[in-house]
Order: sequence, then structure tokens, then C-alpha cells
Amino acid sequence: MNTAVFSSDELAKAAALLQKGEIVAFPTETVYGLGAAIFQPLAIKKIFTAKKRPSDNPLIAHLCELSQVEALAIDIPKQFFLLAESFFPGPLTLVLKKHESVPAIVSGGLSTIALRMPAHEIASTLIRLVGEPLVAPSANLSGRPSSTTAQHVLEDFSGSIAGVIDGGATQLGLESTVVSLLDPTRPVLLRPGAVSLAALENVLKQKVSVASKKMQLDQSVVSPGMKYRHYAPKMPIRVFTNWEVLIGYVETNKNLKRLLLANQPLGNMDRAALTPSALYASLRYADENSYEEIVAFCDPLVLSNPALLDRLSRASSS
Ligand code: AMP
Ligand code: MG
Repeated sequence: MNTAVFSSDELAKAAALLQKGEIVAFPTETVYGLGAAIFQPLAIKKIFTAKKRPSDNPLIAHLCELSQVEALAIDIPKQFFLLAESFFPGPLTLVLKKHESVPAIVSGGLSTIALRMPAHEIASTLIRLVGEPLVAPSANLSGRPSSTTAQHVLEDFSGSIAGVIDGGATQLGLESTVVSLLDPTRPVLLRPGAVSLAALENVLKQKVSVASKKMQLDQSVVSPGMKYRHYAPKMPIRVFTNWEVLIGYVETNKNLKRLLLANQPLGNMDRAALTPSALYASLRYADENSYEEIVAFCDPLVLSNPALLDRLSRASSS
């Protein structure tokens, strides 16, 4: 299959492919998504095949207007509308009870549905042109870093998807915050993202509990041992919170081809940035250049960003 690369002026062509049941990648403000029309189960199956995604890992439905929610979810609590008013369109995904008309494949067989309204002109125009919401997981092969450019999408899917819309590098670089509202008396943060826990609680005037296992940082090397290895580059990552400890480690282990993932240099060591918008490009750069190890330095700015720490932790666990 030839994968077409569309410019932002060619959204009608991309929408026509989606209406025909093909899958097309598109930019959002978080990362690139791999889209299919939500009421076309055969198209959605192509997403799972192309990504090699386990069929029990559910997809997020992307909307362009709030009125689309009624066809997708039931028993919608007031917390949904409060959060939608403050954060839609934007990097927030809300989990509700699924409407029976939504194909089971969308939710990996669950009775729930995750909803988001992206704040990206290309994404919202595309959804409007297709005429129905698009399901869109991150546009990467399962286990690879998410794509933040059309080039990343092509690295993973050239020849296996119908097209990609090139909207340049994404603005935020990390996936959306995911919050479950299945029990509206007890909202749960399932995945940290650009919308912070404090911002959610401030709008809801309610406590939001955190589902994810916190990264256990110590003064030297972190080995969080989380359950899944997501977002993974091909080589091990050692995470440091103390610059002197990192220098000591590098000096006593000189023989590896090593990439420093940090926002400050160390001598003439090869380096890539550790910021939300750069993380995935940095991990892909490490893969392409066959580094044997990554040493990451968490400066105070990194340590204050739960979404960045979460993705770094997942990338570094084995
Ligand atoms: P990705 O599409 O790669 O951004 O991943 C989507 C994330 O949203 C995954 O972590 C999913 O497990 C989560 N997700 C999607 N739908 C649901 C749902 N119905 N309930 C809980 N989590 C969901
Ligand atoms: Mg993903």
C-alpha cells in the first residue's frame, strides 16, 4: 500500500479515505493519532493490526463538538460537563459508560468509552469533514515511542496505512490526561498529562484519586519496575536525579556508546533534550543512532512534571 502524505490543504482527500474505511494518521496538540471512523468496525480492526496493539487495549474517541457525546455515552454525570467546559477542546480524555451503538472493538470489549475533543485545527476540521467521531490511538507501533511528527508516523507505518496528514511537530508532545468518571463521586486519574491533578480538582471542587503507581525516586538510579514497558526505546535507560552521581556513573563506565538525555550538557557527551515536547523524538533519535544506553537526568523542572516522569518511568522500566 502506498501511504499518501497530505498537507493541511488536503483534508478533504484524507476525510474521503476515512469515509471509505481506510486509516489515516493526523496531528493533534498532544501526539499524532492513527484515525478510523468510529462506526466502521472493519476500519478500526485495521488500526489494531497496523499497530500490533493488543485487542483489549481500548481506543479514545475524538470529537469536534459536544453534541456528539450523546451517541457515544450514557448516564453522563455533571462532572463531565464541568470538565468539558474548562478543558475541551484540549488534552483531557474522560471515561464514561458506553452507548450500545458504539462498536465493541472500540473499547476492547469494555462497557466504557474514552472521549476527547482535540484542540488542533487539522484534527477538528478532519472530524467535521468525516461527519462522525474518529477513534485514534497514538500513531506508533505498540511499544514504540509515540509519534510527534509525520516523519515518525512514516517510520512506523509507511506502506501499512492509507495516509498521514503532515501538520508539523505537535505542540505538547505527550498524550492526554485520562480521567475516569465511571463513579462520579470518585473521579480517578488513569494517566497524567498536560491537564494537572490540581487543575482537575480545582474545577470539580472534588478530590481526584491517582490510579497509576508513583515513580519511586531515590537519590541515584531509579528502577520503577512498572508492569508494562510502553514507549520503549531499544536500549536500557538509567534515570538519575543527582548530577554528581550521574557523572560518577559515566566516568566509571566509559566503554558504552551512550546518549545523555538532559537539558544541560556534560562535556562533549552526545545529548538529546528531556522536555515534554522533545521526549519521544529524543527516544527515537537514540534508536536510530544505535546507542547502547541512555542516561537521563531529571532536573527540578522534570521532577515537577508528573506526565513527563510517568512516560520516562515507563520507557525505563523493563
Ligand atoms: P493511546 O491511544 O495510545 O493514547 O492510549 C489510550 C489510552 O487510553 C490507553 O492507556 C487506554 O488504556 C486508555 N483508554 C482508552 N479507552 C479507555 C476506557 N474505555 N477505559 C479506560 N481507559 C481507556
Ligand atoms: Mg499509545
